[in-house]
Amino acid sequence: MSSLLVDNIGELVTNGIGADPLGIRRKAAVLVEEDRVAWVGPSAYAPAAEHRIDVGGAAVLPGFVDSHAHLVFAGDRAAEFAARMAGEPYTGGGIRTTVGATRAATDDELRTTVRRLRGEALRQGTTTMEIKSGYGLNVADEARSLRIAAETSSETTFLGAHVVPAEYADRPDDYVGLVCGPMLAAAAPYAKWIDVFCERGAFDVDHARAILACGQAAGLGVRLHANQLGPGPGVQLGVELGAASVDHCTHLSDADVDALASNRFDCMCHEGAHTTTVATLLPGAEFSTRSPYPDARRLLDAGVTVALATDCNPGSSYTSSMPFCIALAVREMRMTPAEAVWAATAGGARALRRDDIGVLTPGARADLVVLDAPSYLHLAYRPGVPLIRQVIRNGVPQ
Ligand SMILES: [Zn+2]
Repeated sequence: MSSLLVDNIGELVTNGIGADPLGIRRKAAVLVEEDRVAWVGPSAYAPAAEHRIDVGGAAVLPGFVDSHAHLVFAGDRAAEFAARMAGEPYTGGGIRTTVGATRAATDDELRTTVRRLRGEALRQGTTTMEIKSGYGLNVADEARSLRIAAETSSETTFLGAHVVPAEYADRPDDYVGLVCGPMLAAAAPYAKWIDVFCERGAFDVDHARAILACGQAAGLGVRLHANQLGPGPGVQLGVELGAASVDHCTHLSDADVDALASNRFDCMCHEGAHTTTVATLLPGAEFSTRSPYPDARRLLDAGVTVALATDCNPGSSYTSSMPFCIALAVREMRMTPAEAVWAATAGGARALRRDDIGVLTPGARADLVVLDAPSYLHLAYRPGVPLIRQVIRNGVPQ
């Protein structure tokens, strides 16, 4: 069995050992066997291993879990971004521009983009990345988007209900029928999740409920884009359906926060309880659309489980950087650095209903990030600086 000792860790974030939320250990070591964490403890008691990496007192944390990304697309929308920065509002309408370019692209062009962005994220510490479809919006292009996404990630999401494509603009009911029927049938073999953009100008609550119910019946887990551009019923629909995550959560009523906070289950982990539906915040979208940020403090103070993700997409958030999202969460959403790092690791894992990632405890996947810094605090304290010195994924140094 191949073994690797990551040794001389100044500050180890485990997200699972001890009473503090980040489960911090100092002067620690992690033993990796094959693709799993086999042992965590003081450097002084570290067992022997075939290979050893001395990180020289640096901080080590679980690899980031980016639970919300749209990587299968063609073209870019830099001009739209520039227009927004010059004062034009964001409406979500630009999605159709990307749909045209995506349909016209070859499989290899799409594959190259997915791999480029996935590689970019990996170098910034992301060891798990969810990938959505949603720029094909017909049976063949949604199916191939997911087929290509599945080459790179097991966390794939069918988002045929991203917007109603232009050819169905005056008959949205027919489009919903297509999504629930042949499109879902073609997409489901490559998808783990189903998602809907539940928003004015995209899909209303009845259409969203119908589509998500079809996805559930086909064995897919539920997640949705909700309450991004304005108040709406999306968050409460997500809680009603037992969604793993409701994403964006920028415009929430008290009832939305109550619904998220009251839906709890007991857990064997050291935290004791979690909310069933995670609120995933995507501050890259507010940054890139110059919009007000979600009120993370309100959600955290109510006891809601919060995740952070990039929303990487060519229109409203073209970043693959979890460290950037952590810095935004701390500076703009009043999360503490500890809350932001937890949300970007263990929180993302919860949003994907995974307990084998986002933590560094025995049995977890050996996904580790070594920082070029003595503490996780530097992720927010030194924004824009490439602090990811080394990434280990599935026990393999990258
Ligand atoms: Zn999104």
